[in-house]
Amino acid sequence: MAEEKAGTPQEDCLFCGIVAGRIPATLVRETETTLAFRDINPQAPTHVLVIPKAHHEDAAALAAADPALAADVLCETQAVADDEKLESYRIVFNTGSGAGQTVFHAHAHVIGGRGLQWPPG
Ligand code: AMP
Ligand code: ZN
Repeated sequence: MAEEKAGTPQEDCLFCGIVAGRIPATLVRETETTLAFRDINPQAPTHVLVIPKAHHEDAAALAAADPALAADVLCETQAVADDEKLESYRIVFNTGSGAGQTVFHAHAHVIGGRGLQWPPG
């Protein structure tokens, strides 16, 4: 199969579907380049996902293809933490199936509102 151009929306991608409005989500923030919405299966009182609107498979591909967009995602995680009044929280980019990535559109988890153990499992 031909490799898709970096950033191109993917028909079969869940998060591209949320960006396009085909799939509902509870949005908490939006910028020109990013979306933030509540995780459907929250692991903590606050569990928000921040995604680039453009499709990139994971955080590594995003950083390689578009560092400014990767920075936008990171800055939005901080905005979510502020909005949610989180003093302590964790930003997680699961990268690769061995690390638990299940949706292959780059996303940052913003997790907080309870004590968090270290190291993660
Ligand atoms: P990861 O396992 O790091 O790829 O994270 C994917 C996350 O997406 C999981 O925490 C899921 O609970 C979450 N998720 C899956 N489908 C949806 C959806 N329709 N809306 C919001 N979050 C979702
Ligand atoms: Zn996508």
